[in-house]
Amino acid sequence: MTQIVVIGEAMVEMAPCEGVGIYKIGFAGDTMNTAWYLKKLLAKADRVDFLTSVGTDIVSNQMVSFLDSSGIGTSRILRHPKLSIGLYMIQLDNGERSFNYWRGESAARTLANSTSNLSCGLKGADIVYFSGITLAILPESDRRRLIEALRNFRTLGGKVVFDPNLRPQLWESTGIMISAVTEAAAVSNIVLPSYEDEAAWFGDANPADTAERYQRGGAETVIVKNGSGPISAWNTGELSHYEAISVSQVVDTTAAGDSFNAGFLASHMTAAPLELSINAGARLASQVIQSRGALV
Ligand code: ADP
Repeated sequence: MTQIVVIGEAMVEMAPCEGVGIYKIGFAGDTMNTAWYLKKLLAKADRVDFLTSVGTDIVSNQMVSFLDSSGIGTSRILRHPKLSIGLYMIQLDNGERSFNYWRGESAARTLANSTSNLSCGLKGADIVYFSGITLAILPESDRRRLIEALRNFRTLGGKVVFDPNLRPQLWESTGIMISAVTEAAAVSNIVLPSYEDEAAWFGDANPADTAERYQRGGAETVIVKNGSGPISAWNTGELSHYEAISVSQVVDTTAAGDSFNAGFLASHMTAAPLELSINAGARLASQVIQSRGALV
């Protein structure tokens, strides 16, 4: 049995239905999407728990019930007495999707505000998965607390897996984003960046630069996703490249990276060869982008 703890924020998603002003409510968020796919892919005995903070209100309870019904463990979820969960709304304009977020006051922003809560949250875990979005939503002191807790977790033999998921609009400044993400990657065994974001904010000239930068920083394995382009992998001192799976019609790329990470990690956990695990990630992502929505 392997215990994975996924740390981050899940939000209410309001997606437009046919008919003016009618929206369907769901729950999503980058790390929650990965947890959801991990649970689907892993053996029954393996456990995936989500670590976040939610409110005590009805919609927070609904989200916890949704996670429960998806088989994701909720016993590590903290309850904030006053705050609730964040929300985003998808707008459609001539078929183009845009997103509006209301997450500035979400309970998830408090998920790392206590060292003892964090050590309870990580207790018994074999693998911890988190992202740059997990860090971006936290106050700076809590961000440091989380990175420190993960550094200790790795030192004690735990495996830390990190997707930088660079979203500059969530951060105080791009400088703070760059230094926090670099620090988080340095305490991680596996880093799963997307080249387009890394090139934009770190100035990498190619995916190999991204892989080498994170490996130099302290990661053992770096898998660089690149949309429909080849996936580059740095592992045990070697750089290699693998083709993505070609897709005839891309419908919606939401959660491409999140599902890739789940497919990769679920396979990698079984000690499969790297090539097989990358293929598992690319295969799942290729299926996800052929349907609408994050959870396919
Ligand atoms: P993110 O969604 O995090 O920006 P990417 O766009 O790099 O990440 O995509 C993640 C993975 O999803 C890629 O490595 C690839 O396996 C798959 N993928 C994304 N877009 C396509 C595409 N157009 N065709 C085939 N595979 C794709």
